[in-house]
Order: sequence, then structure tokens, then C-alpha cells
Amino acid sequence: MEKFDLGIIGAGPAGYTAAFHASAKGLSVVIFEKDEIGGVCLNRGCIPTKTILHSSEIYNEMLSSYALGVTTENIHLDYTKVIENKNNVVEKLRKGIELGFKNSKIKVVKTAAEILDAVTIRAAGEIYECGKIIAATGAEPRELKGLEFDHKFILNSDDILNLEKLPRSILIIGSGAIGIEWTRIFSNFGVDVTLTEFAEHLLPAADIEISKRVERIFKTKKIKFYTETTVEKIDKGIVTLTNGEQISPEKILVAAGRKPVTPEKTDGVTYIGDVCGSIQLAHFAIKQAIETVDGVKFDKTLVPSVVYGTPEIAWVGLREQDLEEGTYRKVNLLVSALGKSHCDNMTDGVIKLLTREGKILGAHIISKEASSLIQQILIAMQNNITIDMLKEVCFAHPTYSEGIFESLWRIS
Ligand SMILES: Cc1cc2nc3c(=O)[nH]c(=O)nc-3n(C[C@H](O)[C@H](O)[C@H](O)COP(=O)(O)OP(=O)(O)OC[C@H]3O[C@@H](n4cnc5c(N)ncnc54)[C@H](O)[C@@H]3O)c2cc1C
Repeated sequence: MEKFDLGIIGAGPAGYTAAFHASAKGLSVVIFEKDEIGGVCLNRGCIPTKTILHSSEIYNEMLSSYALGVTTENIHLDYTKVIENKNNVVEKLRKGIELGFKNSKIKVVKTAAEILDAVTIRAAGEIYECGKIIAATGAEPRELKGLEFDHKFILNSDDILNLEKLPRSILIIGSGAIGIEWTRIFSNFGVDVTLTEFAEHLLPAADIEISKRVERIFKTKKIKFYTETTVEKIDKGIVTLTNGEQISPEKILVAAGRKPVTPEKTDGVTYIGDVCGSIQLAHFAIKQAIETVDGVKFDKTLVPSVVYGTPEIAWVGLREQDLEEGTYRKVNLLVSALGKSHCDNMTDGVIKLLTREGKILGAHIISKEASSLIQQILIAMQNNITIDMLKEVCFAHPTYSEGIFESLWRIS
């Protein structure tokens, strides 16, 4: 039997962050991983999708770059290379974490582990006694009734990363972050995409005006989508939707949320990350890990959401539908008002601020660099920085950030 100060199950963002922070404090740490180091985020989530997205954006930009003075000929898409590049990026980052474990003298046990009680873990027949146990076992794709994964025709977000060639057409079910990102990837690559959403609008977790604007952007890009729609039946490859449409996609991607890997919990064990089933985002998992190990608290109501693609979509804080009419002010600044958006040929989008009594309650952005813009607003919100104080800040020109500055002066 080996003894450690801390035993961690799962080496995703929650687990590896907890391990590094505990080791930096001088604790002896053992971490168990049944699959690849880096978890879903690195191997099947954030990183691989954004790498493929980047390839798709380059491809799409090249197709229309003549208007910007760049003529390209014989543009050729080699999807095998796209996947090879994705695999290289993932592997490089994974080796970085593995090296970090080695340098920090964190013991890595590459097998499934089982919690016996609040201080005991069993893995591959060995017993590990730990002063404290953190379970960071993550989440897995949720199946829908009648749309069970067969991993050939009906795919989940893991399967879709392993396609050897692009499908001719695809039906994507669910317009959360994963569904929207894959819709953008496939449509950039020229795949015939149909997106369905059960709720009234795309991206149901977003501010309603943002959802409607995303719908408008999709319409201008001729991306087919149906809201308040799901699959009624599938018969011999023909999919009948609840709105009566019939399509024959080569593949179906079900992107309908994720369920915790470990549904039952052991008393005395700390659960962090996606396994908690609340906010399933890598940065939330990382902050929970740091809170658990270092005691550095964070405001769970101020967690940014980002949906990647062109343009990016990001938000934090309250949405318009969360607020009672007449109790807030709002400003919508079109990104096309910013010189930089014209320089970049990226004029689609909006910066929307919801405010009350001189403070920002929520920010909702569709823009190039929205993922970074939202962070600036979040820092202001979290630190009670008022709109008047922000007006004193000097924003660089030409940038998208100056859109935040411009918005402040339009709050009536
Ligand atoms: C397609 C996709 C795209 C995403 N994009 C983003 C994004 O852009 N930004 C973002 O913030 N989030 C994104 N996410 C979500 C993000 O990946 C998760 O929030 C994050 O990975 C959660 O980290 P975690 O450590 O809690 O769990 P995980 O990353 O799931 O790691 C859990 C680990 O535990 C291991 N494990 C489970 N049970 C055991 C056991 N019994 N013994 C040993 N090991 C075990 C698993 O093998 C896994 O490696 C995306 C997810 C998907 C699916």
C-alpha cells in the first residue's frame, strides 16, 4: 500500500490543475487516468475542435481572398492532413502536461481507479491511502432516445473527431457550443449542414438577442437550421424531422449535452469539474481545482462562455431575458462601427452591454476576438469598476476593445 497526501482521479483540466497546485504546495500527489492525460478538453474537446476549426477557417478564407487582393489557385483540401495536424497539436500539449507531472514528481498511474472510501483508492489491484481524495472524472456525451450512438451513422462529439474523410452532408442535433462549433467547421469546409434545435432559438443559453443575431448570420451564410425541431424518425437513412422536412444526411452528430461519468458520490471526497454536472467548461473546472487546493475563491456567477467560430460569440453575467423590463439599460454597438472590423473584413457582430446604476450587469458579444473582449468586461464587473471609471481608461486604436469604450458613451 502506497501513501500520498492527495489522490486525484482523472487527469483532465480539473485533475491536472489540482495536481500541479498541490505539488507546488509541497504535497505528495498521485493521479489516476484511465485514458489519455489531458482529459476531454485536450484529447476530445476544446483543443482538437479549435485546431480543426482553424484549418476550416483558413480554407474558407482562401476561397474568397481574391477580394482582399490575394489570389490563390488550385486550393486543395486534404482532410487527412487536417486531422494529422490536430493530432500533432494534441500530442504536443499532452507531452507538456506529462513532462510537468514528471518535473513536479507527481505519480501518474495510467489505469482506472475506484474510490473505496474517503481516504482509499484501488487501482489495478493496488491500494492507495490518501490524506484527501479529489474526483475529477469528467462527463461523457448524452444520448437521446431513438438517436443512440452507433458510432458509424449516429455519432457523438468523440466519434466526429475520428472521421477519416469529410461527409458530404451532416445533420447536427443541438445548437449549444458543440453543435454551433461543428456547424461552423463543416460549413467552412463546404459540407451540406442541417442544424436542428429543440428550443425556440439557436444557442438557447445565450442572451435572446444574440441568439437571433446568430440566426441572421447563419441565414446570410446560407447555413440551414430549424428551431423548435427534432428528429421524429429515421428509416433506412432517411430522417424525418418534426417539422415535416425529410433529409438523407451521410452522418448525424448528436450534440445534446454531457452527463457526469460518476453519478454516485462518496462522502468526504471532493468532486470538481464536469463530473459536478453544473457548468461544464474547462476554465470552470480549473478554477474549482484552484479553489479546492489553494482556497482561492471565485464568483460562480461570473464565468465567461465562449462559442468559437467566425465571428466568436462570448458572454458573461445576466442576459436580457433574466431582467425585468424597466430595471436596466442597454446598449448595442454594431461591430461595423469599428474601423478594425473593416480592416479585417469582419464586420458581422455586436457588443451588447446591460447596465444598472452605472455598473455592467451583463455583456454579450459577437465579434472577432470576442473571447478576449469578454475578459476585459469581466475584470471590470468582478472588481466593481463603474462605467465612469471605465471611461477614464485609454483604449488602443484601431481595436475591437475600443468597441467597449464606445459602448460606454452610448448608455442612455
Ligand atoms: C467537443 C467539445 C468541445 C469543448 N470545447 C470547450 C471549450 O472550447 N472551452 C471550454 O471551456 N470547454 C470546452 N469543452 C468542455 C471541456 O472539455 C470540459 O469542461 C473539461 O474537459 C472538463 O474537465 P474535467 O477535468 O472536469 O473532465 P475531463 O476533461 O472529462 O477529464 C476527466 C478525466 O477523468 C478520467 N476518468 C474518468 N473516470 C476515471 C476513473 N475511474 N479512473 C481514472 N480516470 C478516470 C477520464 O478518462 C478523463 O480523462 C468542450 C467539450 C467538448 C466535448
